[in-house]
Amino acid sequence: MNVLFASTGEKPEFWVPLLQKLLPAERFFAWPDNNSGDIDVAIVATHPRGALAGLPRLKLIQSLWMGVDNIVADPDLPRGVPVARLIDPGMVAAMGETVIAHVLDWHRHFWCYRGFQAQKLWKRRRQYLASDRGVGILGLGELGGGIALKVRAMGFNVAGWSRRPKQLPGVFCSTDLDEVLSRSDAVACLLPLTPHTRGILNKDRLQRIRKDGCLINVARGGHVVIPDLLALLDSGHLAHAYLDAFEPEPLPADSPLWAHPGLTITPHIAALTEPRTSAGKLAENIECIRRGEMPPNTVDFAAGY
Ligand code: NAP
Repeated sequence: MNVLFASTGEKPEFWVPLLQKLLPAERFFAWPDNNSGDIDVAIVATHPRGALAGLPRLKLIQSLWMGVDNIVADPDLPRGVPVARLIDPGMVAAMGETVIAHVLDWHRHFWCYRGFQAQKLWKRRRQYLASDRGVGILGLGELGGGIALKVRAMGFNVAGWSRRPKQLPGVFCSTDLDEVLSRSDAVACLLPLTPHTRGILNKDRLQRIRKDGCLINVARGGHVVIPDLLALLDSGHLAHAYLDAFEPEPLPADSPLWAHPGLTITPHIAALTEPRTSAGKLAENIECIRRGEMPPNTVDFAAGY
C-alpha cells in the first residue's frame, strides 16, 4: 500500500523512518512528494490545504492527534473515507498528569503563592481538603473518563458530563451540563470541538462554576468565550484559569492574555503525541486497512467527533 504523510504539525523526517521500520512492506511518501492519486492511507496532523483532495484510492485518513476537528472541518475532505483518531496511551497519561497538576495548583493555592512571592509577601491562605472540593470533567471519553477516575481517587468530589449517559464508579455522571457545573469548583474541559461544543464555555456557563473556582481548558481554544472568561476572572468569581489551547495558535505575542494575572498559559502541550506509545497504534490501524477491516476509533461524522 502507499502511505502519504501530510502534516504541518508533525515532522515527516521523524515519523516516516519510524513507521517504515514497523511497516516494511508499505511505501511511504511525504507531502508533497507523492500526490499522484495512488495513495491508500493518509497520515495527517494539520495537513496542508488540499492535501487530501484528488486521492481516489484513499481508504483511510489516520490522524496523528486525538483531536480531529481540523480534519473534519476540511472542505476538501473526500466523502466516504473513514477518519481514524489516534488513541495514544502516552498521550492519555500525559493529559492526566497535566489536569491533575492544574487541579492541585488551584486547590493548594500555588497560583496565588507565586504572586505572593513576587511581592515578597509571607501570607497563608485557608487550607481545604480534597473532599471539600468539586471537580467537573467535561467530556468522559478516552481522556476525560480516566481523568475523572484519577481525580476521584485523590478524594475530590467528581462530576462528569457526556453526550450519552455514562457510569463511572464514584463519579456523578450526567448529561446535564448546568448540573455538573454547579457541583464544580474546578472544571476541566476535555471535549472535542464540534458545532455543538464551540463557545460552550460562555458567561452563562462559566458563572455556574462555584465562586473562587477555576477553569482548565486543555481541549481547544474554540470552547471558551475569552471575553466572558476574562470578565469572570476580573470580577473575582473565578480565581484562576489554565489555558492550553487558543484561537489562533500560536497565541500572538501582543495578546493581552499573556500578561493577565488570572491566567496560566501553556503552548498546547497538555498532551503531545508520544512516538514510543503511538507508532505501534498507527501501524495496527494501517494493517487493519490492508486486511480490509475498519480500524477502531473512527470519526462519527453525524456527531462531529
Ligand atoms: P473522545 O474519546 O471522543 O471523548 C469526547 C467526550 O466528549 C465524550 O465523553 C463525549 O460524549 C463528550 N461529548 C462530545 N460532544 C458532546 C456534546 N455535544 N455534549 C456533551 N458531551 C459531549 O475524545 P478524547 O480522546 O477524550 O479527546 C477529547 C479532546 O481533547 C480532543 O477532541 C482534543 O480536542 C483534545 N485534546 C487536546 C490535547 C492538548 O494537548 N491540548 C491533546 C489531546 C486531545 P460521549 O461519551 O457521549 O460520546
